[in-house]
Amino acid sequence: MSNNKYKILVVEDDPNITSFIQAVLEANDFQVLTASLCRQGILMCASHTPDLVMLDLGLPDMDGEEFIRQVRSSSLVPIVVLSARTEESDKVSALDLGANDYITKPFGTAELLARVRAALRVTRHNLQATAPGSVFRVDDLVIDYDRRQVTVGGNPVHLTQTEYNILSLLSQHTGKVMTYSAIIRMIWGSMDDGSIKKLQVNMANIRKKLGCRPGDNRYVINELGVGYRMLDE
Ligand code: CA
Repeated sequence: MSNNKYKILVVEDDPNITSFIQAVLEANDFQVLTASLCRQGILMCASHTPDLVMLDLGLPDMDGEEFIRQVRSSSLVPIVVLSARTEESDKVSALDLGANDYITKPFGTAELLARVRAALRVTRHNLQATAPGSVFRVDDLVIDYDRRQVTVGGNPVHLTQTEYNILSLLSQHTGKVMTYSAIIRMIWGSMDDGSIKKLQVNMANIRKKLGCRPGDNRYVINELGVGYRMLDE
């Protein structure tokens, strides 16, 4: 058996969902570990150091958010939350606590694999982004961090300081959903009633300057009511 497979920990108490995820991931050459209780998941995360965690928020012994709090205090492992439609607000607070992404139940094979691969890429990408002289590319968009310069198809894009800071922040968390409040806190330091509107206006201007028409998700996906996600390929 090859031992350089990605190791994925699934923390979920619904056996049907667990076995579906396990079957799909194993068929695609991932190694899968499972836990049906939050406490067991936390212990396995520490002892097995998985490359990725898929986490159900509604676990019988403890809230999934407690898992994120405890694991995030010592580990940057990507966490993808498995959320039911009735848990919309839980999903946002899970992202704010440090989860990387979420999948809404029920989900299919293609979506599961896409989210897993994106979350695994985040780790690799973020290691590169901090290197001096590093440049971010997605499609024909290039961000030169040292020069604070953005180009699309080789043509310079003239962003304001704030617009650049937002785009740069999203690009350093590609594949991860950044919630409104996480972006606002990192860009403006604090949040008030007008903050989300202000962020949305800035994002609309950024998208226009990048040449995106409404509904065009070329570089940044608008996660309605949650936040934004920068694509990484
Ligand atoms: Ca559950």
